[in-house]
Parts: sequence; structure tokens; C-alpha cells
Amino acid sequence: MHFDIPLTLPKVVILMGNSSRPGSIVIREIDHTPFEVFGEQHVVRELIWNGIAARSFDLVRLTDGAVLTDESFGEYPTDAQIAETLRDHGVDVELSVCMFCGEEVLPATAHRRRNGWVGNSCCRDDRLRATE
Ligand SMILES: [Zn+2]
Repeated sequence: MHFDIPLTLPKVVILMGNSSRPGSIVIREIDHTPFEVFGEQHVVRELIWNGIAARSFDLVRLTDGAVLTDESFGEYPTDAQIAETLRDHGVDVELSVCMFCGEEVLPATAHRRRNGWVGNSCCRDDRLRATE
């Protein structure tokens, strides 16, 4: 693309390049492990912003790319928060209970164990592996 910026004013160009407000531009997106709810793939998408350490997390329906979160989460959402977001969109998910910590977990993201479910967001794989 061509911009009509006079070459005699390099300083102005640099200032313009740095003028983006911190936290105003997504510099990187990280899709976490997708999971299926009623036949549709969903993913928690982590957004990294320019100039700030804080990240935000959105719930995205991969089928059509729709962002389901009205307001991004400040940290990786719990299964209960994911379920609530899905319910806001008319997806009536049922929660189970994590056999380790008692947190509500989404069967779609949890691991099936002999005696029940192990949550992905609360107890994750390390705990699962440690008990096997
Ligand atoms: Zn748990």
C-alpha cells in the first residue's frame, strides 16, 4: 500500500506508528483445545493485546466463527462460565461435577473417569496423570 507521507518528516511517521493506545490492538490470538457441544465445535480464544500484560478470553463457535462472549473473560473461563455463555445463546448444556474438587464441569471438556468426571479447567491433565 502507498501512503503519501513526506519523507522529510520521519519523526512524525514514527510517532504515528507508536500512537496506538496500549490494549487497543490484538497482536496475537491463541485458540485453545476445541471442544464439541451438541455437534458444534467451540473454542476458547485467548487474545494478547499490544502494550499490556492483561489478556482476554472469548468463547468462539468455530462452525461459523461467532464470538459468543458479550464481554471477554479476564482469565481462562471456568466450565461454569462457558456453560453460562452457551446458555445465553440458547444452548442448554448440562454440567457435571468434578470428582476431585467438586467444581461444575462441562462434560464436553472434562475427562471421563471410571467413577465420574475430571474437569479440564479446574484439575486439568497434570492432576489426571498424577493419579493414573
Ligand atoms: Zn476439578
